[in-house]
Amino acid sequence: MTGSLSYEQLLAAAKEFGTPVYVYHAEKIKEQYEKLVSAFAALDTQFFYACKALTNINVLRYVKSIGCNIDCSSINEVKLALHAGFEPQKILYTSNGIAFSEIEEAVAAGVHINIDSLSNLEKFGKKYGSTYPVGIRIRPNIMAGGNLKISTGHDTSKFGIPVSQLHLIKDMVAANGIFIRTLHIHTGSDIKDADVFVQGMEVLFELLPHFPELEVIDLGGGFKVPYQPGETETDIVLLAQKISDAFAAHPQAAGQRFKLWFEPGKYLVSQCGYLLTEVTVLKDTGAITFAAVNSGLNHLIRPMMYDAYHHIENISNPGGPEKVYTVTGNICETDTFAADRPLNEIREGDILAFYNAGAYGFEMASNYNSRFKPAEVLYQEGKPRLIRRRDEMADLLRNLVEE
Ligand SMILES: *Cc1c(COP(=O)(O)O)cnc(C)c1O
Repeated sequence: MTGSLSYEQLLAAAKEFGTPVYVYHAEKIKEQYEKLVSAFAALDTQFFYACKALTNINVLRYVKSIGCNIDCSSINEVKLALHAGFEPQKILYTSNGIAFSEIEEAVAAGVHINIDSLSNLEKFGKKYGSTYPVGIRIRPNIMAGGNLKISTGHDTSKFGIPVSQLHLIKDMVAANGIFIRTLHIHTGSDIKDADVFVQGMEVLFELLPHFPELEVIDLGGGFKVPYQPGETETDIVLLAQKISDAFAAHPQAAGQRFKLWFEPGKYLVSQCGYLLTEVTVLKDTGAITFAAVNSGLNHLIRPMMYDAYHHIENISNPGGPEKVYTVTGNICETDTFAADRPLNEIREGDILAFYNAGAYGFEMASNYNSRFKPAEVLYQEGKPRLIRRRDEMADLLRNLVEE
């Protein structure tokens, strides 16, 4: 068990690199990856890191070094993956709502592609016919995931081609001889229940007779990790067992040697990350004691955007008596990180560590209020190193056209 970075390691990073700062723990990513690999060892499985969770090029290179593939959500992420050294065969582009020109670029780069609309599938068929094996994203009409904002497979979701439009897919495939190699679903994020993945597979299994050239079943990402103390992550061993059983039990799938793909984002990088902030102002208003930190929703938007819970520790005073605080940022907008949270007594200048900040943390950061984006630091083999400098004034002025 690699576990987590110690308070001493986090405090040392805050001291050396200043705050606010994102700190990532490389070996934690490896630990999560190895859990997946060992759980699915009996099946022909490949994992594609959904890199939109965290795209720092040094993290991408680390992910590559441990043998993981990569899943991209934009053509720019494909370019970043190539820049990080991933071979095209290890890159998957799962698109949605994109211009066809991005698919042309992805074909030129030689990466795997999952197409998410009939419109692009038709253009693809007309241009490439059977020459370029491709995947299609199916909307299975399943409700899954932590909340509606992160649920993507239900029957009003924009993602994927509704399974009810199978006849249209088939017509298009037949008209152009399209080589459908992959059927893909991704039903949401924060999915704890293994049965959701099996349910999705069952939907895909029903489609098998229509796609005789199929080689890959891609079940997307969305594995849950613990955010609150006492929560548990998706039981990956149980999931692997259930998936293996589902393959064996289904008449259309049993005996066929499909490759199984997954696209974990959060599962790989959520727990590796910490956002370290400094308490700038304590404000006792009688009913509520506010602790304001030198950060805000501009750096970590998940609490305000998804009502996400992020565990917080006062790593400067871990032995202090517990008191109740509402932790906020410094943005001119309500940016509550945690309301009525018991924490070890906070003094101005203390360092608060936000946990589970690896996935969708820095990646969703902005310069709102003309604040700088934080620095990023990677702890590897016990040593921290800067992997992105904090913004400076020049970054706020870059690209501005001044007379
Ligand atoms: C975001 C995304 C993922 C990763 O989701 P997590 O919840 O971070 O595991 C995987 N596949 C696709 C297509 C995605 O859009």
